Amino acid sequence: MARLVMKFGGTSVANIDRIRNVARHVKREVDAGFDVAVVVSAMSGKTNELVGWVNEISKFHDPREYDAVVASGEQVTSGLLALALREAGWPARSWQGWQIPVRTNDAHGSARIESIDGAGLIEGFGRKEVAVIAGFQGVHEATGRITTLGRGGSDTSAVAIAAAIAADRCDIYTDVDGVYTTDPRVVPKARRLDRIAFEEMLEMASLGAKVLQVRSVEVAMVHKVKTFVRSSFDDPDDPRPGTLICDEEDILEQQVVTGIAFARDEAQITLRRVADKPGVAASIFVPLAEANINVDMIIQVVSDDAKTTDLTFTVTNADYERARAILDANKAEIGFSSLQGATEVVKISAIGVGMRSHAGVAAKAFKALADKGVNIRAITTSEIKFSVLIDAEYTELAVRTLHTLYGLDKA
Ligand code: ADP
Ligand code: ASP
Ligand code: MG
Repeated sequence: MARLVMKFGGTSVANIDRIRNVARHVKREVDAGFDVAVVVSAMSGKTNELVGWVNEISKFHDPREYDAVVASGEQVTSGLLALALREAGWPARSWQGWQIPVRTNDAHGSARIESIDGAGLIEGFGRKEVAVIAGFQGVHEATGRITTLGRGGSDTSAVAIAAAIAADRCDIYTDVDGVYTTDPRVVPKARRLDRIAFEEMLEMASLGAKVLQVRSVEVAMVHKVKTFVRSSFDDPDDPRPGTLICDEEDILEQQVVTGIAFARDEAQITLRRVADKPGVAASIFVPLAEANINVDMIIQVVSDDAKTTDLTFTVTNADYERARAILDANKAEIGFSSLQGATEVVKISAIGVGMRSHAGVAAKAFKALADKGVNIRAITTSEIKFSVLIDAEYTELAVRTLHTLYGLDKA
């Protein structure tokens, strides 16, 4: 029989009524003849609360115990949904990551799935059981310890399980009815997309659109999982299809720019009067890399005097203080005069596979932002996207300006 994975995010399972509503969505698909595996997140706000408790008790916590705590939110919702389904008369069974098992590496807190054994789930289908799976969690087999997949990781659980059981489709139910041209909560004129290409969704997600976790898009792309994003708030008896993530070739009317994303968790660091000689970039970026700090945008200014130069780059807000401390500790070796930092910055990106074949797409944006008095601190471009770093106070203005500029506003 055809198999289906349905994933429900935190707002969709936020309380008992909503869990019952999820059961109605599941019933529809079971009645349509699917063998169903449901993946659930923790109730909205739960994971934040759990992370908060961990930080309160131990600032530099043991990552294994962090995972033991934060994985628990999904254990609760998987059991509750299984009960809701059973109450309504459908056989259902909950599954924790280790019970399936969802095997991961040991990168606690942001573990990667290595393999999933779908046999137990499929056996359950044979007994007409709906499988209700705790998302976000797996197990590191050698140590037997619970791992978690990074924030937003239930999306990845769902797509990876869909690949493991060769599901026909993976439906990601959330609190919006699809993927929009930008976050509809920030730009009311954002338009829902019927389809978006894997590459574009990958960029959108990695550049700040948290509607899907980046890794879930990678898994969908590699394993060709037919993935939809749709709303759990639609009428369970008459839902809309949502947005399909698909191959570029399957999209007929391709825009130059498909979407605008923004990431508020950037911080900028500028090193003044760095010696302009070979090896300096390495002396800055090697210690940061060794501390697992990801550097994003990098700009080096050509020096006036051929002796010193200014170097600007960005890191995530979470790494900002650590990066500063490492650079200060290496000040003598790097040889800069001062370090300036800014955390109230945001990275705004425009994404579209059409950029490959159109010139001047970014230039239009620079002009439009300048006309609105928005100063650009840094720029990066690649084949299908460009990003600008600006002051955070201009976020809404800049996102809306670019959204209108590229013809994305809904009529
Ligand atoms: P869930 O808890 O269901 O996983 P998330 O909060 O992780 O839901 O993701 C859904 C949210 O993503 C939406 O409420 C929306 O505000 C945000 N979002 C950001 N960018 C986009 C976009 N381009 N399209 C749709 N939603 C977006
Ligand atoms: N509950 C986890 C989180 O909040 C995983 C998820 O919702 O996808 O990050
Ligand atoms: Mg999410």
